[in-house]
Parts: sequence; structure tokens; C-alpha cells
Amino acid sequence: MSANYDVVVVGAGPAGYVCAIRSAQLGSESGHCRDVVRRESGKPVFGGTCLNVGCIPSKALLDSSHKFIEAKEHFPTHGISVEVPGIDVAAMMGRKTKIVGQLTGGVSGLFKHNGVEVCAGASGKLFANRKVEVSAADGTVITLEAANVVLASGSEPISIPPAPVDNDLIVDSTGAWSLMPYPSVLVSLVLVSLAWNLGSVWGAWAPRWCCWRLWRASSLRWTSKLRKSRRKSLKSRGLDIRLGARVTGTEIRDGKVHVTYTQGDQSLDEVFDKLIVSVGRRPRTNDLFSSDSGVTTDERGFVYVNDYCATEAPGVWAIGDIVRGPMLAHKGSEEGVMVAERIAGKPNQLNYDCIPSIIYTDPEVAAVGKTEQELKSEGVAYKSGTFPFAAIGRALASGNTDGLVKIIADKNTDRILGAHCVGPSAADLVQQMVIAMEFGSSAEDIQLMVFGHPTLSAAVHEAALAVDGHAIHMANRKKR
Ligand code: FAD
Repeated sequence: MSANYDVVVVGAGPAGYVCAIRSAQLGSESGHCRDVVRRESGKPVFGGTCLNVGCIPSKALLDSSHKFIEAKEHFPTHGISVEVPGIDVAAMMGRKTKIVGQLTGGVSGLFKHNGVEVCAGASGKLFANRKVEVSAADGTVITLEAANVVLASGSEPISIPPAPVDNDLIVDSTGAWSLMPYPSVLVSLVLVSLAWNLGSVWGAWAPRWCCWRLWRASSLRWTSKLRKSRRKSLKSRGLDIRLGARVTGTEIRDGKVHVTYTQGDQSLDEVFDKLIVSVGRRPRTNDLFSSDSGVTTDERGFVYVNDYCATEAPGVWAIGDIVRGPMLAHKGSEEGVMVAERIAGKPNQLNYDCIPSIIYTDPEVAAVGKTEQELKSEGVAYKSGTFPFAAIGRALASGNTDGLVKIIADKNTDRILGAHCVGPSAADLVQQMVIAMEFGSSAEDIQLMVFGHPTLSAAVHEAALAVDGHAIHMANRKKR
């Protein structure tokens, strides 16, 4: 059987489903749209990694751990007494599952509302001339033909030979959100930011939580000051962070994970209840397209695309985690919008310099634009200002004084080049700077704006003032 569509999207994660919805909204120009939605465990998977095992479940649990820490550590300072707070992990997991269900059901509803046809097959594969073969759940294979095919198959966790995932005692970042009962001794092999998210969730409950950082390199571009500040804060929560440790083997004995590792010249071993392997993700491009489809990848499996996410095959686009750039839901979604609009003849262009990155730890870390290190290496003259939350009335009132806001501006033009924040609501504060940067604002523009009082946003205002040495609520090192 074959059908003709203007747009066929393969994958219904945040990149694919947003692209499908936007394409359908632009129906008059782009015509018919169909989303190939993978079926796992007998059910179609709407929302991809993000809604099912990524952004949303991790934040649901993170919020639970915040509340636990609040009750345990901060209530007494507010004069509130509660019985010693306990944890009902099953209830916590139930809450998380309900939220995931609400959101994935929401995507399904949005598809219906926007007239996106769903092809809930096993998986789609692209062949030459934009033919997509979809194996349906009952084993029948249908072929969709489209003027435009958008590939959005996302990513999957990387596994490493010394620690093979068994989804029981050794889990990856997917299994990490469903650990029950919660382990008393936990270790994580970490490389990327989501491991910090894991640390903030499980570190709040596990009596002993240890985190091994295998490599020093980080995929995220935090300033070293912020990195140190975050590490200090996680350590203060009892996280045992071992930089430079390298796991050489694991063995399951007596229901425990025996881990051998090297640290410096020493070879060591230790026993844990659970091991989380969180060493990064890779694009899911295996068997996504045939060799004559015209689509090509780099040696790591990322699909080659231009600035507008067009692949080398005419009419074939690729978005989200399978293409270059940060593996972030919002980056994929905006690529989805860009591609849908370009297909419809609208000249949308994504500003890759203004994509915020967030690490959902406690405290939160967020950044947009350049770091000082990058500007130094590019030879750009810059100035910067920082302001600590400890001097912000609202932060003191809520007892969240850890961290700071930093703003970096071009020394000659005053244009804002980057903003970095560690502390309460860091993600939302940095988003203000994303807006400012998109409008080409200068530090002076922010200085001249009125910020509400008392707010955490006041730290953004003061950091902008500090860029030119005239922050009001601290002693400025540089004077003006
Ligand atoms: P995915 O979300 O992976 O979706 C791809 C979909 O396509 C999947 O449903 C997959 O099953 C399906 N598929 C694959 N192959 C086929 C095929 N052949 N045919 C049909 N369907 C197919 N990002 C953030 O921005 N903020 C966060 O806070 C955040 N937290 C995260 C926490 C964790 C634990 C993890 C793992 C990730 C997190 N991310 C976060 C990253 C974010 O989830 C991803 O960047 C995002 O989901 C990528 O979107 P995508 O649509 O490209 O791919």
C-alpha cells in the first residue's frame, strides 16, 4: 500500500511531534502531515525520550527530592516543625508516572486536534526518493511517499564494556528513574549533565551516593567558577565525587555490584547496591535509512545537515538529537518548527548562539552564549559582572542564597555575549538573558530597565550593573 503526503515525520519526540504539529498548522501550504510513531511494549510512544524517560520524569523526581530536602533541612529555620520526613518511593514514582501519562496523552490529543495522522508502526525507514517504509504493529508493511521527510529518531544511552547494563542492578539513565526500592548505596559513572540531575535526585535519598567522573572533559560549556560552585554545593549534600576514576570491570555477586576501578596509580574495588551508567547518549540512526537514500552521517552517527537541518538528500531533513549541536529538547523542538516553516516557504532561521543550557541540580545551573574562556581563546575583548544571590533580599527571604549571576558583554560594543547563573531559578533567569540577547541588547539596556523588588531577577539587574562597576548592593571591585 502506498500513500502520498507533503510531510512525513519519523519519530514523535519533542523534535518530531513539534515539527508534525507545526506542519499541520501550516496545512494550507504544507498539506498533509503524518508522524511515524514507534510502538514499544504494545503502545505507541508519544513524546520520545523527553516525556517518557528524560526531561519530565527526571524533573518530577527532582521536585520530590527538593521537597524532601526542604522538609528535612529548611522547615525548622522557618519555624515549621514536622515529624521526621519519610519517603514513600512507590508514591513518588506513581506521581511521576501520572505526570508522564498526562503529557504523552496530551501529545496524542494535540495530534488529533491539529489533524496530524498517526502511523503507530514499529519503526520507519527511509529509502531512495523519500519513500518511508513502516512496519505496522500487526506485521504489515506500508510505504509512505512524501514530498518532504523529516527524520527525528532521537538518541539512546551509550553503554560501555566494563559495565554492561542488565536493567536490574546495573541500569542506564532510562532505568535510573524507576529504581525501586531506592538503593542505600549507589554509584554513577558520569560524564554529562544528566548525571548531575541524577545526583540531585538520588543524592537526596540514598544514604551513600558516590559519583565517579571518568573524564575531565564536559560536553557543556560552563565557566570554571560556576562548575566549582556547583561541585561544592553537591559535595555539601554528601555526594562523594571522584574525579579521574576509571572503571575497569563489574561483577554481580550476592545481589550486589562489585566494581573495580583505577584512580591514579591505584587499583581499587568497592561494592554497591546499584550502578547507574550515565556516560552520554548517541544518535539513533542505525537502520534509519537505506544506503541509497542519499542521507549521510559522520563517524559518530550524526546525520549531516546544513544550518537549516536539510540533509544531503533533496527533501529530506533531520532534526533533534540525531544532528549536530546540544542534545536538548528545546533545541530539537525549535529545529522542528524551523523545518516545518521552511517546508511551507517561510524563511525561519534558528539562532544556535542563543540556545540556553540547563543543569537541573540543586542549585540549578544555566547558561547561554559564550564563556569567558571561549572569548579569551577567540581574542574577543570583553567585560563581565557577577552578582551573588547572598546579597539579594528575595533569595535571603527564601533561604536560597547559594550562587550568582554573571553577565559578559563585548568591551567595545557593550553587546551581551553570554550569561551564566548558578542558584535559585537559574533557568528562568537565564531565559531573560536569552530574550535580551535575541534582541541584541547591551549591558546598559539591562542596567536601564526597572526590575521588580524583591525578586530573584534583581540579581540579573545587579550583574548587568556590575559589568560596568556600578552594582548598587555590593562593593564593586572595578569602579566607574
Ligand atoms: P527523542 O526524544 O529521543 O525521540 C525520538 C523518538 O523517535 C522516540 O520516541 C523513538 O522511539 C522514536 N524512533 C526512533 N527510531 C524510530 C524509527 N525508526 N521510526 C519511528 N520512530 C522512531 N533536554 C532538555 O532540554 N532539558 C532537560 O531537562 C533534559 N533532561 C533530560 C534528562 C534525561 C534523563 C535524558 C535522557 C535526556 C534529557 N534531555 C533534556 C534531553 C532530551 O530528552 C532530548 O534532547 C530530546 O528528547 C531529543 O528529542 P528528539 O525528538 O530528537 O528525540
